[in-house]
Amino acid sequence: MSSEQNTIAQVLVESAVKVVGKREFLKTVETMFGVSKSGGAVKSKEKKPRKPRTLKPVPEDNRCCARVKGDVSAVVGKRHLFESARCTRGCVASSDLCAIHRNQSEKFGALPDGRIGETLTNDQAERYCESTA
Ligand SMILES: [Zn+2]
Repeated sequence: MSSEQNTIAQVLVESAVKVVGKREFLKTVETMFGVSKSGGAVKSKEKKPRKPRTLKPVPEDNRCCARVKGDVSAVVGKRHLFESARCTRGCVASSDLCAIHRNQSEKFGALPDGRIGETLTNDQAERYCESTA
């Protein structure tokens, strides 16, 4: 009498499947016991920390020559004075500027903050002395 060989567990499972459906039953078992359909344990869903994008440092002689605002070097009253820094992007072919600064240079006829090594014009100096208000 093979039909009598059903274990209690099998009977319970069968009735549970009848009630919730096979799919829901398996899904529940999976979530409750961490068993995947293939039989193996479900891998813990540990989120891998995203790698911070590390930009390759551009070699000095292949670097954009545009001057950019650096760190705040001083605060005078309500104004922040910025250090002169050099753009960290690499320059594009046939230019000593990066794509962004080359575009600026073409668009405005000059770089808004000049090039590194150049003396700041009054206009540029004003921008390196930004008001926080
Ligand atoms: Zn640049």
